[in-house]
Amino acid sequence: MKLCTDMNESWLSDESRLKGRADWVATPSSPLEMAKEIKEAHERGLSVSIQGARTGLAGGSVPFGGLALSTGRMNAILGLEAGNASFFLKAQSGIPLKDAKQFLMRPCGLGKNLQVLEAVRENHMGFAPNPSEKTATLGGLFASGARGLNSISCGSMSDNVSGVTWILPDGRQISAVRGEHVFGADGLKLPNGLSIPRVNGKDPLFSQFPAPGMDLIDFLAGSEGRLGVAAEITLRLQKIPDITWSAAYFFPSSDEALAFAAELRRWRGMLHACEIMDEAAVRILDEGRLRLPSLAALPPFPNAAAVYAEIAGDDSDALEEALFEQLELFSRMGGREEDTWAGSAPNEIEKFQSLHHSLMELGNTLSVSGGTGEAQVCRISSDNFYGSASVEKAWKICRLNLKESGIKGFVHGSVLDGRFSVCLLPTLNQLSGAEEFRIILARFALESGGAACSDYGVGKVNRKLAKNFLRPEMEECFKPFDKGRRMSNSFFLEAPE
Ligand SMILES: Cc1cc2nc3c(=O)[nH]c(=O)nc-3n(C[C@H](O)[C@H](O)[C@H](O)COP(=O)(O)OP(=O)(O)OC[C@H]3O[C@@H](n4cnc5c(N)ncnc54)[C@H](O)[C@@H]3O)c2cc1C
Repeated sequence: MKLCTDMNESWLSDESRLKGRADWVATPSSPLEMAKEIKEAHERGLSVSIQGARTGLAGGSVPFGGLALSTGRMNAILGLEAGNASFFLKAQSGIPLKDAKQFLMRPCGLGKNLQVLEAVRENHMGFAPNPSEKTATLGGLFASGARGLNSISCGSMSDNVSGVTWILPDGRQISAVRGEHVFGADGLKLPNGLSIPRVNGKDPLFSQFPAPGMDLIDFLAGSEGRLGVAAEITLRLQKIPDITWSAAYFFPSSDEALAFAAELRRWRGMLHACEIMDEAAVRILDEGRLRLPSLAALPPFPNAAAVYAEIAGDDSDALEEALFEQLELFSRMGGREEDTWAGSAPNEIEKFQSLHHSLMELGNTLSVSGGTGEAQVCRISSDNFYGSASVEKAWKICRLNLKESGIKGFVHGSVLDGRFSVCLLPTLNQLSGAEEFRIILARFALESGGAACSDYGVGKVNRKLAKNFLRPEMEECFKPFDKGRRMSNSFFLEAPE
């Protein structure tokens, strides 16, 4: 590790715009080097903040003193494997998602793996999850429980991880292979003596709440750099559908858009994505056409709310029939032909998929300026999974509370699994109202059996919110990892408010 001398360096911040400080920085290039740095930090009592590509929206990678450890140099592809009627790609954890995906597509060999690579291509296998920020690293995606618009059909990032080489906070290494270490009624005991207790019930914040039957990999996923570091990751490849149709449908109001999106659920199976955006979100996208090239390539947006949907599969006739039926439904529900965009060519799909990404990007930059250009605040959003609450009810509660709060903002999210984000654009004197708003929605999500901070993690930005809902028993599961000394200065410890 070396001293951090420049306090303006990019490693002191992430996409949440939270700004921290580091005493030391390290950029290991192998698991061995990584373990050495972590062991040294442990012996010197330093907290360690792990950094992938720092595209996180919750400030999880932002250090507040101690060591900032970047995985940026751990970006090698390690190999392809075939087994159990499936294929697997092993890579170091700092490789960006786009590079891992590209590797499977570009015509280059891997020595003895060349035959496997050919079989992967012949069988149309690939890494299916599509979180929209493609510069994010595999390790960052795994550690923040990432998911893409298509997670209902192909699972989250961690569902598609079959193995992890993990460095514990004291520098010891463990190897987690899916199926080999599973929680029982009393918890989980690993061969190296590490014992993680079982905790009864369900934790509203942590996806890694250890219920019996849970795999060690799923326990480590979503741990946001608290329990150690992923050094290497093995991805399970899936058959990628031969054909995808993507379409954007615009309606005069959010209520009509929601009714249409709810009807689309009858195509579950072939419906791989279904995201709704309210009128304010579409307005922000339209204004963004002047700022983002991905949006400039699209026609002006109708003054409306939108539903973005993808259907995918291998049967072109069935897909075209479904698309035709959806267009008919759209027209029966009051939609106009000129208010639909649809395409199946890769460049068209990419263009339409950029709607979600652009919205995240625009919301993020707008919320930094407090929506007014006056205040420097972090991204403020309410990102919850609404569990068993009906999608209609969850959507309405998000919209109604936003309206009643008097704060500017917009709502969007996945209709298929009831995950909605409210991006808030408060003025400076609305900041405490924004916090209150987030508590109300998080409480409703938890009462519905869902989860708070479910999409981008707790990190440091959501620490204050999370404290309202934290179950102290969770600390018992984390203790064995570092004997009570948290690796990253997350909300259990003394990170600044
Ligand atoms: C415009 C935009 C669009 C986005 N779209 C999506 C989306 O569609 N879906 C989605 O899920 N997210 C999305 N995100 C959020 C972000 O991309 C994800 O949270 C991503 O997983 C972060 O990866 P990263 O490599 O940048 O990690 P970082 O931001 O560097 O770190 C994130 C967290 O993971 C920890 N961490 C990083 N690497 C490791 C490792 N190797 N081992 C252990 N812990 C580690 C860090 O300590 C931190 O707590 C978006 C962000 C932006 C800015």
